[in-house]
Amino acid sequence: MNVSGRKILVIGMERTGVATVEFLALHGARVTAADTRQLAHLPFAAPVLHRLNIPFRPQNDGGFQHFDMIVLSPGVPADLPALNDAREHGVAVIGEVELAASYLQGPVIGITGSNGKTTTTALTGHILESCGIPVQVGGNIGTPVTAMIGSSLPEQWNVLELSSFQLETTRSLRADVAVGLNVTQNHLDRHYTLANYAKAKGNLFASQKPEQTAVLNADDAHCVAFGEITPARKIWFSSTRRVDGLWIDGETIRYDSEPVLPTAEVPIRGRHNFENAMAATAAALTAGAGIDAIAAAIRTFRAVEHRLEFVRTVAGVDYYNDSKATSVDATLKALDSFAGNLWVILGGKDKGSDYTLLREPLQLKARAALLIGAAAPKIQSQIEGAAPVIAAGTIEQAVAEASSRAVAGDTVLLAPACASFDQFQNYEVRGRAFKSLVQALESK
Ligand code: ADP
Repeated sequence: MNVSGRKILVIGMERTGVATVEFLALHGARVTAADTRQLAHLPFAAPVLHRLNIPFRPQNDGGFQHFDMIVLSPGVPADLPALNDAREHGVAVIGEVELAASYLQGPVIGITGSNGKTTTTALTGHILESCGIPVQVGGNIGTPVTAMIGSSLPEQWNVLELSSFQLETTRSLRADVAVGLNVTQNHLDRHYTLANYAKAKGNLFASQKPEQTAVLNADDAHCVAFGEITPARKIWFSSTRRVDGLWIDGETIRYDSEPVLPTAEVPIRGRHNFENAMAATAAALTAGAGIDAIAAAIRTFRAVEHRLEFVRTVAGVDYYNDSKATSVDATLKALDSFAGNLWVILGGKDKGSDYTLLREPLQLKARAALLIGAAAPKIQSQIEGAAPVIAAGTIEQAVAEASSRAVAGDTVLLAPACASFDQFQNYEVRGRAFKSLVQALESK
């Protein structure tokens, strides 16, 4: 794709859009930037646009037809009326990943799914690095793909976390390894139907070539369907049964009949993380890593921050931060990852969730639920009787109550099943608050 001299509009001035502007300007495009917010409210974009002398225009409903091409940031819906209008005038409308795809050097591992993308992407990067295979990691996880182009090399792997928003506008990525973890109801505000959402993710697989590889969850119907639309060689993984590829024979992860490592040695907890580990293993095998080196690398991986992250053991009590568990579903996964003796911190901003789903695992595994935030009364009424409830109110009080009551062998788990916005700026701030309270606990 040649961008030199072309009139290109970049919409959405967060990190990705700004990286795109910088890339296009460097390659001689005549770039204009747009956002729904005013430039004064875009502190990240403003200095870059100023330095590069890039014009900014408010993103109103029209006037896009005079550009040769429009590049969308992942946050911008691809079906805005103004964009449809531009398309009708022959303007190419593409996503940032589509733009980057034709410039990125080196093979690509693209990882998508409703849940587990960040963990699997970080783990795959860690394995390749530990195995001495040159690698850079980015996409939805951090560095925008356009910002990875400058450091890309023909022999270096690019491990990309790809969201459905990014894949919606991506047609020609041709991932050497495309990983499909799972597809569950998510983001339907943007994609309207589960079928549309799955179709966006399907772009990653549909664009592959026969000599490439698809790594797919055999237990997920949408991933099985991706297997039908990709021409690539398939490696399946399953946490429930034997498949051609990676599976668990009860306690050992195997690649066909060959043992990779016992699940007990996978440092990230829970069946869902074993799935992530299997997917990363399949990707790393395809990139040329050996099984023993992969197993050694998995053993040294540490959970991504706020994802069932082990914090510390104090007086025999383990503390885990799963602040990213902002839905009931994620909290169920967290509870499933422990045998019992749990002090579970729940609550925050309710998302209209049904907390009765937590009753059974709480009854089986919790010593108590400690409730915080605005959702506390609703959660209390829905879990009452399943486990003792402590109305802690704040995370400070919850950590104080849990640490004073827990005994050696217990686990204190922050897996709140709620958004954080009633008491915190975001889930990261909530997770860090929890961790600093835990770090401050005195060893008894
Ligand atoms: P993403 O980047 O897709 O949001 P993360 O790796 O950040 O995924 O994990 C977010 C949450 O999703 C985790 O805290 C866990 O509750 C859940 N999760 C992680 N991996 C999986 C998986 N393979 N299947 C189902 N749920 C998962």
